Order: sequence, then structure tokens, then C-alpha cells
Amino acid sequence: MKTFGPDEGYADVVIGTQHGDEGKGRFVDGLAERYDWVARYNGGQNAGHTVKANGEEIALNLIPSGVNHPNKKLYIGALCVVNPAGLLDEIRKVEAAGLQVRNRLRISPQASVVQPAHILRDVKSIKGKVGSTGQGIGPAYAWQAMRVEDDRQLDIRMGDIVRNRQWALDMIRKNLVAEMEKLNISGAEFDVEAAMQQLKASLDIIDSLVESNPLLLQEEVRRGAKVLMEGAQAFGLDRTFGVTPNVTSSNTGVAAAFVSTAVDVDFKRQAWGVAKLTPSRVGHGPFAAELGGKRSEEHCMKDGGEYHQKEKEKAIYGDRVAALLASDDPLEVGIAMRILGGEYGAKTGRPRRMGMPDLMQLEYAVKANGLNGIYLTKADRLADFAGTRNGTIPLVTGYRIDNQQINYVPTTNDELSAVQPIVQEVEAFSDDISHVRKDKDLPPQLIDVLRATRDRLGIDIIEVGVGPSREQVVKMNGSLD
Ligand code: GDP
Repeated sequence: MKTFGPDEGYADVVIGTQHGDEGKGRFVDGLAERYDWVARYNGGQNAGHTVKANGEEIALNLIPSGVNHPNKKLYIGALCVVNPAGLLDEIRKVEAAGLQVRNRLRISPQASVVQPAHILRDVKSIKGKVGSTGQGIGPAYAWQAMRVEDDRQLDIRMGDIVRNRQWALDMIRKNLVAEMEKLNISGAEFDVEAAMQQLKASLDIIDSLVESNPLLLQEEVRRGAKVLMEGAQAFGLDRTFGVTPNVTSSNTGVAAAFVSTAVDVDFKRQAWGVAKLTPSRVGHGPFAAELGGKRSEEHCMKDGGEYHQKEKEKAIYGDRVAALLASDDPLEVGIAMRILGGEYGAKTGRPRRMGMPDLMQLEYAVKANGLNGIYLTKADRLADFAGTRNGTIPLVTGYRIDNQQINYVPTTNDELSAVQPIVQEVEAFSDDISHVRKDKDLPPQLIDVLRATRDRLGIDIIEVGVGPSREQVVKMNGSLD
């Protein structure tokens, strides 16, 4: 890890290391105070974080979560894709809660515009599959790579709408009409004029937020600014490192942060990961450490996730959670863990597939991203394992395929789905640790898990979450040594 003097600028990065919902929000929010800038570097309006502004909870999808620290500057990087009308809605929500945004938000001129055609395409043929939220984000990235079609320029950048607005709007309209033809959508079904009008109206405001200088953030850092770069989605869903097609449409890792912001990598100081000790995955896709394996995926994804949606699953299983937890069927253990941990989509209520803590997967995330510290969440929920048949926490320490141990994390659907996890059973604790604030007061069994994790990953555990609230964290001050 590099060190920098107090007046020198640097950039730190925080990423989710698993499949999302690791609980990044609280740490990013806590860290933001120490920086001048908070930058969002990937994705579009498909990341969900909630920030508290003047006591009010606001759901944000694109604006960096540093927004609730009024004196922090905010940056949306070149690898993001921006829906101008959607961004304006977010800005208005935050401003309605009493926080200024327009005076401190800058957008890279190289970020692509999410066009109405992208949203149409997404809603019509992708939404609901591979976890797409129908915001047009995948098609926006696809068009960056395609660049042109016939006489049309497909990819339009935020810089274009500032420098050459009429040309950009004409092209966006042409692209929309052509896409409607392809998708067989008539003018009566989709109002082109209304979509264009909405876009145009938002540009009058968004325009002034678009930076001209692609090196803005690098120059700020050279002048001494400290920048926190905040990843959206997670490493396990990275479009390159995840297993296609159940991935997100952008790169989510640490290297992407430096591409997106053009901050020189010489200014990289620390890269931190956030990992949940009771990992989960939503949607389809291989999940080697899943409790109940393929059967759990089928259970959770029945009727697109609706069949075992929160209230329904609770109605079916809620009165026998203890029995399920003690079952010798890992599928049932997973159901009990989900109910106890409240592991359902925050908006959709869809069940999250539950897994065992997986050191093999985490080691991959740590190494592929050069992480030098990790925040662990949901240590309190590990106590649920005390109620299992063995009363142990199953730590995944390796993978086997056809009874042969492998020394890598497979990269194809087929191979990763064939993994049999190698599990080390660590005695579980049953204490309620939600009130613990000092590492020396953590139960010895949890210390064993944390030490095994630290030793395997070879990096420091910085803090451990013992409950959802801001105070429910324990700083690790050397009790593992
Ligand atoms: P993100 O998508 O990674 O930013 O995850 P969120 O910040 O939305 O957090 C996911 C959920 O986990 C939230 O409901 C948090 O309150 C909850 N959570 C986070 N950390 C802990 C923890 O240490 N213990 C418990 N029990 N809940 C936690």
C-alpha cells in the first residue's frame, strides 16, 4: 500500500466483492467524510443505494452516495451511462430534501447517453432476464461498441449534447425511430415527441453539469484532492470476471475506477472490498457456495422470484424456521437463513439465494482487484448457524470438480456449476453480538472465522458489521494477531 503526505492527493476505491447487497452503503457513507470528491465509476441508474438527507430516506440510482455530505464534490465517470431525464429526477429528489447538488456535481463528457431507444430495447427484449432492470443500460454499452449502423451514429456522449446539441438530438431521434421499426412498435404505442421533449427539457439543466475537461479529476488529485471511487454492483457480476450472461453490463472492479475517472494509477492509495459473511445472490447464475445448490436456485427463482417472495415464503415456512435450520437438507437451512436474515430484495421482495462464506471466491476478488483491506458485514447473522444440525459455520475453503481439487475459480457456467465446495466446519457462536463494539468482546468462534479469513485473503479486516445500523460496527484493532 502506498503512503501519501497530508497535502498530497490520492484515490481510494471501494467495491462489492460478491454478488451485490454486501452492505457497501454504510461504509461508503462513513468514509465519504474523509474525502473531497466521491466518484461513481460504472453502470447507470441500476444501482440502488439509500441515503439519509435531513432525516429523510432517498433512494438513489446514479448520483454517488457521498451526496448527503453537503460539502463533498461528486463525479460521474466516463464508464457510466447517463439517462439525462432520470438523473434530473434524482437531482430534484435530493434537492427537495434540502441538499444542493447542481453546484457540486460534474459529469464526464465521455459518459454515454442512455437514449430512449435503449430503454425501449431493454424493456422489450431484455428486462427480467439476466437481472436487467429495464433502464436501457445494457443496450447503451452495446452501442458504444457497435458505434454506427447504416448512416446513423449509435453512441452519443454527454459531451455531444453540450457541444452539438441539435445534431445529437436529431441522431437520438433517428436512432429511436429505427429501433421502433425493428421492434415493431408503432407511433401510437410509443410517443416519440413526448420522449424527445422530455430529454430536451432535461438537457437544459444537465448541460451545465457536463465537464469539458476529461482530466478534471486527475488534475484535482494532482492539486491535492482526495477522492473516493465508489463501485456499483459487485465483482461477481463484473461483465468480464463474472460468468456470462448473468452479469451486469459494466466492469465493476478497481481497474475500471481508474479508467472511468482518468486518475493516474500512480495516485491509487487503497482499494477496499466489502463482503457479506452470509453471501447471497439474486437472479440466475452459478453460485458455488449456495446452500442447497441448484435446488435453491430453482426454489428462489420460481415464477421469476415471485412464488417465494418475502411474505409468501414467510407464510409457508415462517412457523418452522428452527426445524428448517436444524434440517439435514441444505436447501431448508438456506430458507431458514433467508427468513432470519431478512434476505429479500429491498424493492421487489424477491428471495436472495443464500450461500456459505466462500474464501475461494473472496480470494479471487481480492487478487483480481489488488484489494488491501476488507469490510465484513452480517457477522451477527453467523449466529444463526448455531441452530443447524452440526452447530457449525461452514467455511468454504476450496473447490472440487469430480472429486479433484482445483486451484482456480472456474469461469464458465458449466464448470462453475459443477463445483463441489470443500467445507471447513468452524464451531458456531450463539451469542447476540449486535451490541458488541470492541473487537476484544467478539466471541472466540467468530475470531476463528475472522482469522481464517484474514490469513487466507492475506489482507486486513478493517471493520466487521454486527447489525444494520451505523453504530453496529466493530473496528478490528489487532485482536486477530
Ligand atoms: P449495498 O447494496 O451493498 O450497498 O447494500 P446495502 O447498503 O443496501 O445493505 C444491504 C442490507 O444489509 C441493508 O438492509 C443493511 O441495513 C443490511 N446490513 C448491512 N450490514 C449489516 C450487518 O452487519 N448486519 C445486519 N444484520 N445487517 C446489515
